[in-house]
Amino acid sequence: MPSKGSECQYSYKPCTNPRSTKRNGSLHLLCEFHRKKANAIQREYARKKRLRKLAITKLDTNLENAIEKLTSEFTMKEDPTPEFPLWDFLDQFLFET
Ligand SMILES: [Zn+2]
Repeated sequence: MPSKGSECQYSYKPCTNPRSTKRNGSLHLLCEFHRKKANAIQREYARKKRLRKLAITKLDTNLENAIEKLTSEFTMKEDPTPEFPLWDFLDQFLFET
């Protein structure tokens, strides 16, 4: 039985893919598939956050609502959602190569 630590740490569904390897030889938290997926979702999360911040800066709630409506069309139907708060934490891992 392979050690638990070498398997993908994707927490929404069991995934037994091996964790992908960084350029420096250490392991990512996730397998290549889930890392790409997480990256895509994280980018969407960052984009939403940026747009929301812009809207709040302008103190224009109508604009914020419009952005919310617009971005919801791009939200992935699958778990996890771009609102998932752990993405802030995962940032530091996901963009390492
Ligand atoms: Zn995986």
